[in-house]
Amino acid sequence: MQNQDTIVALATPSGAGAIAVIRVSGPEAILIASGIFKSIHNKDLKKQRTHSIHLGHIMDDNRVIDEVLVSVFKNPNSYTGEDTVEISCHGSSYIQQEIIQLLLRKGCRSAQAGEFTLRAFLNGKMDLSQAEAVADLIASENEAAHQVAMQQMRGGFSNEIAKLREELLNFASLIELELDFAEEDVEFADRIQFQDLLIKIENVLKKLIDSFATGNVIKAGIPVAIAGAPNAGKSTLLNALLNEERAIVSDIAGTTRDAIEDELTIKGIGFRFIDTAGIRDTIDTIESIGISKTYEKMQQARLVLFLFDANDYKEHYKNLEVEVNRIQNKYPQKQVLLIANKTDLLNEHRIQTLQTKFPEAILISALNRDGIEQLKEKLLSLVNTGVLTSGDTIVTNTRHYDSLNKALAEIKKVQQGLEENLSGDLLAIDIRQALYYFGEITGQVTNDEVLGNIFANFCIGK
Ligand code: GDP
Repeated sequence: MQNQDTIVALATPSGAGAIAVIRVSGPEAILIASGIFKSIHNKDLKKQRTHSIHLGHIMDDNRVIDEVLVSVFKNPNSYTGEDTVEISCHGSSYIQQEIIQLLLRKGCRSAQAGEFTLRAFLNGKMDLSQAEAVADLIASENEAAHQVAMQQMRGGFSNEIAKLREELLNFASLIELELDFAEEDVEFADRIQFQDLLIKIENVLKKLIDSFATGNVIKAGIPVAIAGAPNAGKSTLLNALLNEERAIVSDIAGTTRDAIEDELTIKGIGFRFIDTAGIRDTIDTIESIGISKTYEKMQQARLVLFLFDANDYKEHYKNLEVEVNRIQNKYPQKQVLLIANKTDLLNEHRIQTLQTKFPEAILISALNRDGIEQLKEKLLSLVNTGVLTSGDTIVTNTRHYDSLNKALAEIKKVQQGLEENLSGDLLAIDIRQALYYFGEITGQVTNDEVLGNIFANFCIGK
């Protein structure tokens, strides 16, 4: 990793805005910036304190490019841990480019995606999982996603892992010490205590691994598929949920050709609605969806809203039960909600019959937007939102999830080894391996390829 370059990038979105921020970081940041900046008070940037702001002009020789504010941050007290200068200029694309080009001519290099955060990691300003949380935070679009990213960025997750890693490391050292005294047959590492620690680690790992199911959907939004026969009212329901005329509604069966996705936030939790192209011909041939897009979409969904036309149900209800059961059997992991639509067309008697026949069904009228709030409440209740309010750590990152699973497998091996009275040297190998996977999460052990992959997903300028 070459950290000697001074890098520059636009930190704000490209295009015109009121203000743009250009970021410069590296050993020459202040020197280079001072060469193009003329303070209105004739201040020399090189002599300014850290965390100070200065008004002046960016000059290309004698030509004034813009009036700007320059913030100075000195190593190690900056985001990257290096000398950093942030230029807040007027947000025209022309000005942004002029200043960046000027900085490049004066010796900066264009930053790569995530390079500022990569440097923060390499300079020990944050560990790897915190750096990853920065990207999640930038991408978060609802309260829940924001909250889990914030928690991770503030180190909740890493602290837990780092503590376990340290305790495990202690035992590893003691067991390895025993190896040096192999002749004397001593035991420095108390096996009972060690077993207790392993159980503790196992529990923490399991809890974190379990949290991923929630964490992952929170980050991306909980995928919900809306399924049902043509004309059941799927598009109308989607519109009602989203409160807008988004999907195409029509009387002609099968108008919803393409799957439409839209997002809805209910009390801070993001839901992604997938309006499946009407399950045509499926009332009794559910297997046929096996080849369709609908099937694919249902596959991705965590919740399936299975909608039927209640005004039409007499004809179909036998099949309906069979169909719901089939979906449930086919996707045992998914929750299928049966929804009776068009209840505005039913009289009291038929409503009662419907309720007796399908006690678990939610009765709505998508057209009149009746029952939509209840449906939203129901959706929310199906998601384990408790984890959000409890402040428990939630894993949202696939990379962490993989490492946690691998660490758990190693911990189980160590436990088994202890039970079988495995020799210290063999135990030590498994412990070291578990430690390795812990270290992968926080970045104590890492390689350039992994780092490259992680930071390539960042935006440039962060
Ligand atoms: P899809 O094929 O399942 O997407 O069904 P659409 O949403 O396109 O609706 C088909 C027809 O049923 C349209 O004419 C809608 O206006 C009508 N419709 C949808 N929901 C209701 C409802 O709750 N009550 C009544 N009376 N008609 C509805």
